[in-house]
Amino acid sequence: MCMSIALRTLDDGAWISVNDSRQVSVSDVWTLSCGVFCECEPAYVLLEAFLDVRVDDSIVVAEAVGQCLECGVRDSITRLPVGRIVDGEFESYDPEAVQSVLEPEW
Ligand SMILES: [Zn+2]
Repeated sequence: MCMSIALRTLDDGAWISVNDSRQVSVSDVWTLSCGVFCECEPAYVLLEAFLDVRVDDSIVVAEAVGQCLECGVRDSITRLPVGRIVDGEFESYDPEAVQSVLEPEW
């Protein structure tokens, strides 16, 4: 069983590629719940670029830069879970589902 997953960012951070296929687009708006990004809860954050991507346990987490659509705060996100690895396959999260994210709690 091959569990190795090739993760990288493509096109200057516009995409996250998983096993050489473009899976996550930077143009999605992510809903972040815990108020760490800005004062809004939830915050609707339009991403500008993915800076890095890695697997943390089976969770695929990206480092990204984004801007809150409501208050305009622009900041980096160190830990945005964009999906997970299930049986060696990438399963993306729904960007519109509220994410309790950012700082590691586990
Ligand atoms: Zn905000």
